[in-house]
Amino acid sequence: MEMTGLQIFKYLPGAKKTSKANCKECGCPTCMAFALKLAKQNIELSKCPYIENELKEKYSHSIKHPQKTIEIQGHKIGGENVLYRHEKTFINRTLIAIIIDCNCQDYEKQIENISNFEIKGVNELYHIDLIILKNFTTNIKINSKIPTITIEELNNYEIEQIQDKDFNTTKKELITIREKAILEKDDKYSNPTCVFLNPQDDIFTSCAKASYYICKYANMLAIEKYNNEMLSTIIRLRENIYTDPQKPLQVESDLYKFNNPNENSIVFLTTNFALTFFAVANELESLDVPSYLIVIPADGMSVLTAWSAEKFTANIVSSTLNNLDIRNKINTRKIIIPGLLAHMIDELKQAVPDFDFIVGTHEASAIKDFVKQFN
Ligand code: SF4
Repeated sequence: MEMTGLQIFKYLPGAKKTSKANCKECGCPTCMAFALKLAKQNIELSKCPYIENELKEKYSHSIKHPQKTIEIQGHKIGGENVLYRHEKTFINRTLIAIIIDCNCQDYEKQIENISNFEIKGVNELYHIDLIILKNFTTNIKINSKIPTITIEELNNYEIEQIQDKDFNTTKKELITIREKAILEKDDKYSNPTCVFLNPQDDIFTSCAKASYYICKYANMLAIEKYNNEMLSTIIRLRENIYTDPQKPLQVESDLYKFNNPNENSIVFLTTNFALTFFAVANELESLDVPSYLIVIPADGMSVLTAWSAEKFTANIVSSTLNNLDIRNKINTRKIIIPGLLAHMIDELKQAVPDFDFIVGTHEASAIKDFVKQFN
């Protein structure tokens, strides 16, 4: 664990009240200021000439990185600092690699399929990270859109390779390695881990095991037996685990179109919080009515949170309509706002007098009935 400013301060002349207390030789006004800067690693320990050996040892241990970061064909793995994502965040996503045997007759087709595999996420397309080639020889030509590596080359990396057989053994090994690395900063356990899934398992077992290993604590998965559904499942899980819990998922502020709208179609408005956006977008997509959705930039906050944090104000709505050039894109001058923001109607009308604002529903699920009545 990293030392806090207070823990550091205890060892300094300021806390011990010696003659050098707050002497300013380090460039800081007080020992406490130095301790706080040191805790954030914004100053060198050596700037204070009066540091005791005990603090030197404790501090250098506390800032030591528990897990190495390794880069494989442009993908970083490892470098994790915590056991649980809610403590801070996980850093480098579990790398997902597919093993392809060059002795298989259809290996080129397999590489093509894996290269073309993609799934859509919030503002992003996800692909397989890496292909691991088995039985590769130099006379084999590989035509792949994603990075490849031979199994022999992979052996040269500082990675702890785990051959998965039974779930409990692999699980225990992964947990032990990560705990020894993070809690004890034991160098013997600092290499990132790669689990080679057992190709004898059926797809459902492989998918369940891969899901657990992504959560705890595989830095990389090498998969020989798979199908597209399994890959979609584990990639979506990985993206959820590796988002920063302190940053809400958000979509881009834009004018979104549903069911081929024309310039007179119905227009909704909401914030760019991903959950809100997808709840509303799913409803609009499922209607047999063309529509638009204007998304306001609100730092990824939901409707009421954005309003209370002043991230959804009448002025922001006005500037978004200008930035997105709404007046030139649609003729409709009526905008349906979330029902939770009914109290903003007057200020919206004042800030944007050429538009009429109509109070919509509290819940996305009520949009369908609302549109029927509206039409
Ligand atoms: Fe305190 Fe800075 Fe003086 Fe060290 S150099 S004793 S930290 S004021």
